Amino acid sequence: MISSPSSVAVHRGADATLSIVVPLYNEAENVGELLRRLREVVTGLSVPPAGWELICVDDGSRDGTLAILLAAAALDPHLRVISLSRNFGHQIAATAGLDAAHGDAVVLMDGDLQDPPELIDAFLAKFREGYDVVYATRRRRAGESRFKLLTAALFYRTIRRLTNVSIPVDTGDFRLMSKRVVSALRNSRERHRFIRGLVSWVGYKQTGIEYDRAERHSGRSKYPLSKMLRFAIDGITAFSEIPLRIATWFGFLVSAVAFVVAVVEIGIRIFTGYNLPGYTSTIFAILFLGGVQLITIGILGEYVGRVYDEIKGRPLYLVAESVGSGLDADSSPS
Ligand code: UDP
Ligand code: MG
Repeated sequence: MISSPSSVAVHRGADATLSIVVPLYNEAENVGELLRRLREVVTGLSVPPAGWELICVDDGSRDGTLAILLAAAALDPHLRVISLSRNFGHQIAATAGLDAAHGDAVVLMDGDLQDPPELIDAFLAKFREGYDVVYATRRRRAGESRFKLLTAALFYRTIRRLTNVSIPVDTGDFRLMSKRVVSALRNSRERHRFIRGLVSWVGYKQTGIEYDRAERHSGRSKYPLSKMLRFAIDGITAFSEIPLRIATWFGFLVSAVAFVVAVVEIGIRIFTGYNLPGYTSTIFAILFLGGVQLITIGILGEYVGRVYDEIKGRPLYLVAESVGSGLDADSSPS
């Protein structure tokens, strides 16, 4: 049975344990450096954790990522490796890692070193002050295309206007979460996951730290435009019903326009006797309304498709192999 978040005790003092969760997909060139930097950061923390674990989730990589992780795990008891049965995508891989985390404080970060591990000390300082979520807001982003910067900025501002959950702008998934927040995420099994939104939805005391996002250490982004778009739609549909109302607004708008046009046309006919030729306006009306209807059906489809996906009730992911026990298993919440 999954414990309810309110019953989860979070240690914040010297007895606090730390989990670091990293989803990885084809990051063979980055793993070595990542492990090295993380170990350096954890051993140099201003308040050493009572215990710590690093959970690397291999999201069905096709390069040597898994082999490197397994070799490293054989030498390091802090390292746990969870290998998924195939590529499930970043948000699901992160979820698999969070599901396995035992720490009082759980840090989620990317494996390409765009999220500097050195920030973890500052995260933990806020955690000790009593915050349940400490997220990292990007002040600057190095090595990203103008297009990505623009679309990302636009996206965060759009979703902010569309939802009543307060999702911080320019903030990715790089963050620290307390055990009870992670436990709340474990109880939220929706499959089109938008983790940063879910975390905002959970509530408790949340705060942000600004940082400059680094360039990828090596390799290319695993988020091409199509995946980014999917992700954006996942975020919006998961946290807003406003797009569904667009049809209603369009309906009122088109009816109002139709009414005005009718009054004007009839007026012209009565007072001047002139019969307006209607070819252009007819074609325009047909195409415009056809477009509006198709768009609104498409929006409806996005929601219906997601309902269908949820109702199938498949597991979010399958684990092929799990190595290492990390923190003491009896501190496990489930
Ligand atoms: N990732 C993953 N599964 C995927 C795609 C990405 O686990 O299907 C991981 C990837 O290895 C990285 C993190 O998610 O650690 C963020 O991905 P990426 O750096 O490609 O995204 P970007 O920073 O470009 O938004
Ligand atoms: Mg990246």
